[in-house]
Amino acid sequence: MIELSHIEKSFGDTAVLKDISIRIPEGSVTALVGPSGGGKSTLLRCINLLEIPTAGSVRIGDEKLDFNPGRKVSWQAIQKIRRQTGMVFQNFQLFPHQTAIENVMEGLITVLKWPREKAQARAMELLTKVGMAHKADAWPSTLSGGQQQRVAIARALAPSPRVLLCDEPTSALDPELSAEVVDVLGRLAKEGTTMVMATHDLRLASQIANHVVFLENGSVVESGSAQAIFNSPKHERTRRFVSSIN
Ligand code: ADP
Ligand code: MG
Repeated sequence: MIELSHIEKSFGDTAVLKDISIRIPEGSVTALVGPSGGGKSTLLRCINLLEIPTAGSVRIGDEKLDFNPGRKVSWQAIQKIRRQTGMVFQNFQLFPHQTAIENVMEGLITVLKWPREKAQARAMELLTKVGMAHKADAWPSTLSGGQQQRVAIARALAPSPRVLLCDEPTSALDPELSAEVVDVLGRLAKEGTTMVMATHDLRLASQIANHVVFLENGSVVESGSAQAIFNSPKHERTRRFVSSIN
């Protein structure tokens, strides 16, 4: 279970997230949707603490950190939370000078200090899961965007994080390549991978998410089951957003 309580984030005088509270049950998929600039990426980055919230608390499993003013948070505590998350980015961000399998092994070897053979076996298992075992020795530049993103998903999952965070995982891909990434994410969801994804792609959200949070101007306008948000949004703003895409 992941819990964000009363998260606030400001950059200088600009409040980008305002009093966001969300609970993410284990094994669920939550989609963060809403207009550009609404705070989706910042909220994801507050879960893995790439951004430090200005106030509020973040809990992942048994680790809870309180960022309210006056609280001192240690670097070790931040690392503990961060290691329970894996992140997938819009533009893949594979290491260009490493092959697909080396990309997946990298964190296991350098961060977790796994022996090379064990890391290699784990990486191969994950490349197989995302349908990329046949490209294990390929360089990222020789792979399609969809293939690169599948390797990036394998890399994010390698250390068995409690939650997979995806920031616009299909936005850089044309529809055909996007479909293969949606397919992989859908399979992971079925297997019970806990995921939080920020996405413009309502098709992706409606296919995979159980829970949808509609964010605008840094606030949660509406949240609920994917079915409720897509089929019978309560809030006028959500209704317009959902219908503008259909
Ligand atoms: P979304 O992902 O929904 O498009 P973002 O989280 O990227 O939204 O951005 C939310 C708001 O926060 C935007 O107005 C953006 O300009 C601002 N913002 C994001 N990161 C920073 C930063 N590092 N410094 C200042 N403003 C930022
Ligand atoms: Mg974003």
